Amino acid sequence: MCRHLAYVGPPIPLSRLLFEPPHSLSHQSWAPRDMRGGGTINADGFGVGWHTADGPVRYRRAGPLWSDPDLPALARSVRSGGALAAVRSATVGMPVTPFAAAPFNEGPWFFSHNGVVAGWPASVEKAAAALPLNDLLTLDAPTDSALLWALVRDQLRRGSGLFEAVAGTVASVAASAPGSRLNLLLTDGTTVVASTVGHALSVLADEHSVLVSSEPLDADPSWRPVPDGTILVAEPGSLKQIPLSDSQPARAVHAGPTTPGAA
Ligand code: GLN
Repeated sequence: MCRHLAYVGPPIPLSRLLFEPPHSLSHQSWAPRDMRGGGTINADGFGVGWHTADGPVRYRRAGPLWSDPDLPALARSVRSGGALAAVRSATVGMPVTPFAAAPFNEGPWFFSHNGVVAGWPASVEKAAAALPLNDLLTLDAPTDSALLWALVRDQLRRGSGLFEAVAGTVASVAASAPGSRLNLLLTDGTTVVASTVGHALSVLADEHSVLVSSEPLDADPSWRPVPDGTILVAEPGSLKQIPLSDSQPARAVHAGPTTPGAA
């Protein structure tokens, strides 16, 4: 499965996330520690999205992060106070293309999925059918992660907050596709929302910054593991962990009249 991370805080060079720490995202791409049986390395593409004064910027490629000759210098020279990055291990049968690499993006939102939708695609036909046809015709890629992004984005476009969009999508897909691994990660550059369903996640936070990552980037003892079955809502100075079982209102939002069949 993939590895992903999101950062919100004072501007830092992207290399502080991607390359410099001992267990940076680059290191996690070829030597991940906690894949839980879902693959071995993350060599099927990568991406990084970051917020700038001119709006969001994204850089994705279909190959391994460690083999991009230009990314280290780019990452050293780009500073941002909000970023999401991911490395991909494609699920068997899903295409390897930059379009399938996270982060998925619209406006200020960057999104990533670590995991797999069990029984794909039949298990989520009903949820997909509730999306506007245009969204299905323009899906980023024919992958489970791209559909999850379309479901989350649909909620965001309808005015849901980040928590509601993630919690609602996780509840809906977990119900129709039990056994799925649904570690979703979403940020708007201010808040980071992440779910843990079947995969690892850790958080490093203080009053100034928050860093959420599949695996800790270094040996800092302040890293905290996020328990399975949680929605994490993190901002500098504020960390909330909501058990999935308590996210009923979000489920109700997703199952509302505007998304028939989504529950
Ligand atoms: N199912 C996702 C894909 O193929 C895999 C993401 C992951 O965690 N490996 O894109």
